[in-house]
Amino acid sequence: MISLSTNVEELPKVGAVYAKKLKKFGIKTIQDLLFYFPARYDDFSEIISIQDARQKIGEAVCVQGVITEIEASHTWKKWLQMTTATIQDQTGEIKIIWFNQPYLAKSLHEDDFVCVAGKVALAKEGIYLNNPVHERINEIGENEELTHTGRIVPVYSETRGVTSRWLRYVIKPLLYRFGEQIQETLPADIIKKYKFLPINEAVWQLHFPESFEHADAAKNRFSFEDLFLIQLKVLKEKIRLMQKKSPSCPMDADLMKNFTDSLPFQLTDSQKKCAFAILKDVEKSVPMSRLLEGDVGSGKTIVATMAALSVVKNKHQVAFMAPTEILAKQHFKSLSGLLKNYNVRIGLLTGKDARIFSAQGGPDSVWEVSKKSFNADLENGQIDIAIGTHSLIQKNVNFKSLGLVIVDEQHRFGVEQRAELTRNKKLVPHLLSMTATPIPRTLALTVYGDLDLSLIDEMPKNRKRVKTIIVEPGQRKEAYEFIKKEVKDGKGVFVIFPKIDSQASKQKELEKKGKIIGSSGAVAGFAVQNYNVPSLSSLAINEVKALKEEYEKLSKDIFPDLRITMLHGKMKAQEKEKIMIDFKNGEIDILLSTSVVEVGVDVPRATIMMIEGAERFGLSQLHQFRGRVGRNDMQSYCFLFTTSPDQLNRRRLKALVESSNGFELAQKDLEIRGPGSLYGTQQWGLPDMAMQGLSNIFLVEKTRTAAKELLEKDPELKEYPELKERLKQFEKRIHFE
Ligand code: ADP
Ligand code: MG
Repeated sequence: MISLSTNVEELPKVGAVYAKKLKKFGIKTIQDLLFYFPARYDDFSEIISIQDARQKIGEAVCVQGVITEIEASHTWKKWLQMTTATIQDQTGEIKIIWFNQPYLAKSLHEDDFVCVAGKVALAKEGIYLNNPVHERINEIGENEELTHTGRIVPVYSETRGVTSRWLRYVIKPLLYRFGEQIQETLPADIIKKYKFLPINEAVWQLHFPESFEHADAAKNRFSFEDLFLIQLKVLKEKIRLMQKKSPSCPMDADLMKNFTDSLPFQLTDSQKKCAFAILKDVEKSVPMSRLLEGDVGSGKTIVATMAALSVVKNKHQVAFMAPTEILAKQHFKSLSGLLKNYNVRIGLLTGKDARIFSAQGGPDSVWEVSKKSFNADLENGQIDIAIGTHSLIQKNVNFKSLGLVIVDEQHRFGVEQRAELTRNKKLVPHLLSMTATPIPRTLALTVYGDLDLSLIDEMPKNRKRVKTIIVEPGQRKEAYEFIKKEVKDGKGVFVIFPKIDSQASKQKELEKKGKIIGSSGAVAGFAVQNYNVPSLSSLAINEVKALKEEYEKLSKDIFPDLRITMLHGKMKAQEKEKIMIDFKNGEIDILLSTSVVEVGVDVPRATIMMIEGAERFGLSQLHQFRGRVGRNDMQSYCFLFTTSPDQLNRRRLKALVESSNGFELAQKDLEIRGPGSLYGTQQWGLPDMAMQGLSNIFLVEKTRTAAKELLEKDPELKEYPELKERLKQFEKRIHFE
């Protein structure tokens, strides 16, 4: 018996050959095929007379007629095969030219009735329909049951060998046969409450919509469903976590005051508010899951340090994870400084070495230890705060009593990791995740739905706003002169150089392989944030080559007197670190790097950020780059070099000039370039429908409320087996990173 779960291979129209092709889209069963939705539609719903069609040169039209002649031929160059035909209705006749479809002359005959849809064109020989879609009809005036013409026609994203026409031809009869059998996944009261189309109706309307309103209604329903599933996944995880216990670490108000008094500056109000929320969270015995968001330079480290100190004073340990070794070392240094009066032992664990800092050891109190002894110290509780990369919270590293995990710039990594590590444990550490990536509210609610949010939305007072300037090709010289002057004053310069072309093609390749979803508009956004995407390593080679060329240009022609150094992703960590230190200490004037450079590295003497091909980056990314300067009280500058006359790009760069607010910029990116441009979304592999829904805050909030209400009523989804099953499939497919 053929059913929805039958493999498509068993369908006569599909067979083994097509089944293999479909598998590339992730389609195995009939149900999968029915859930393969069109990417867009052609509107051929209005059928007009041939006479009227002849007036619409350059427009797409749909006409019906009888074939009066048809023949296969060749173009004058011989190599292009074509079929020419003439069709006629009561009002007149029109010629048709089909390219590369010689078989049409065999399958269509004189006196056949057809409905055709395509563009009206004008050539020397007269008006004709250029390569239209066609389908056979019984008589003129027939407009029931059309599939490829005479309606809103679905267009699927095609891959070699699977055309939209073929998909329509296969899917439509399947809808008739199995459409009614598709089981509803959404709970009935949700469908009622939001007046959603039932699932089988929605599937129909997505493939063969009655009107664009119907298609939108169907899309809406599935956007809701996908976002709803994400919310269920995320909230279920949260509920699971709430049943665990974490060490309660009561706040010592005097200690905290003492600590903040010891700083050479006053905390901003935002910092205070966030620190307080976090300190209150770790007092509880329910695990904290908090995301601390704040622009680069807003002072997240201090806030994290306060939480760490509080946990340590309660005799628990802290793991502090950074995305790279350079950043881990930087954190090690700042925390050692910040906590030097508090009798805290801080350890640094990186790929090669391990170090320990202890305030009791006198002023030069950092020493190297073996990894083995480092691990032993962790296990017996000698190390209070361990700083490092991923390697810190892995299975073979044991803490005596891990109370808090702090994760810097790793998106969902820490969340997933903690979940993984504590699956079978009662006691779990609190989690503080930090990011400088401004995440629009919709995304925060979706992908970070299980985290509470704290926002540092204020910069330390001593900061001057970075002056951002769009540099036109004619103004380059001027900018270079300015840079020379600044360097003479002892300032440091970052030059960011993109090599997007090879990345763009790589992106296309990945897209083709179905590995990532993405609109090409998102190319830059995707390509530049890949410090931990190994599959893209081959592209780094091209990047290095381009970077070297740029280096030659800068060091020979433009700044022959200045000390310029390159930094790129292919270098060893140690090499990179040495360069960063030299740059920090003023031994290097200009640091030329690819976009792969570590986020968050602190070089206070750097006051100029110069970005080549600025239009190729996403706004959030540019904002991140800009955040590397302006880290002290000197006036800093961000030069956006661009040669692109594209108005859209101009608008984006202007937004950067006008705004220094990361959230505003992320929202702008979302509006101008669509959800595909958002930092990191490609890596999460959100389904298309969910991505589309992301720009709609109301929809996101609705799904969240609905998921909450449902889980409160029925945490195990016992009453909703279809939904439960769908969620299971969904969880397998979606992996947040
Ligand atoms: P980020 O949020 O990017 O991680 P950091 O915590 O590294 O920022 O802070 C950037 C710099 O600002 C550090 O040198 C830090 O000491 C300093 N800083 C933090 N808070 C303040 C403040 N309230 N006033 C002045 N400087 C501050
Ligand atoms: Mg930081």
